Amino acid sequence: MNEKKEIKYIVTRKNIKNMYFRAKPDGTIDVSANYNVTDLQIKDFIDKNYEKLIRMLEKASKRAENPNETHYLGKVYPVEFKKMSGNYAQFDGNVFTVNDLLEKRYEDVQVALRNCKIDMCFDVFSKINSEVAADFRGKGYNIPITTVTIKYMKTLWGSCNAFKHKISICTKLADYPLKCVYSVYYHEYMHYKYSGHTAAFYKELNSIFPEYDECAKLLKQ
Ligand SMILES: [Zn+2]
Repeated sequence: MNEKKEIKYIVTRKNIKNMYFRAKPDGTIDVSANYNVTDLQIKDFIDKNYEKLIRMLEKASKRAENPNETHYLGKVYPVEFKKMSGNYAQFDGNVFTVNDLLEKRYEDVQVALRNCKIDMCFDVFSKINSEVAADFRGKGYNIPITTVTIKYMKTLWGSCNAFKHKISICTKLADYPLKCVYSVYYHEYMHYKYSGHTAAFYKELNSIFPEYDECAKLLKQ
């Protein structure tokens, strides 16, 4: 019988409503939990979600397997390390070049690559935002002037605060095909009509953006 692999995890206490789990390439799980959640409750949750967390860890280690390639807008590009000033990355259309000082520091390389990608596709994301907002308004939805922030989000692709007219979009989306970026904008704008993720929410989302389910699957990979 297979020995159950022990899941190593680190707990960070925060003023948050839910518990969040992030699988790291080094094989540990980052747990974010509120101060009033007991260690026993966290251990219990980990035991109950054992299979799911093991799958997350496998995915995270797979991602880290090949630091010499990276995804950008759905395509795979080689990553090269070279002597250069500054902890950043460059892209010449074919290859991402990263400061060789970062070579062994996986998380720092990912940050440098992510910043480089988002600098390049910031305008693309802004154009998608205007297109999607215009599409909703054109279809008669009541969409207020909305502040859209593109930022790094650990566990979410996007979020919408319909009361504050604020939408946030995750920089990690720059790794995925543009249709996935559209799908997240459509998802967040649909929250102006539906606050929760009901069947009606997803039905209407798929009617206004028919590739939604397909993109949701891609974003889970
Ligand atoms: Zn949502």
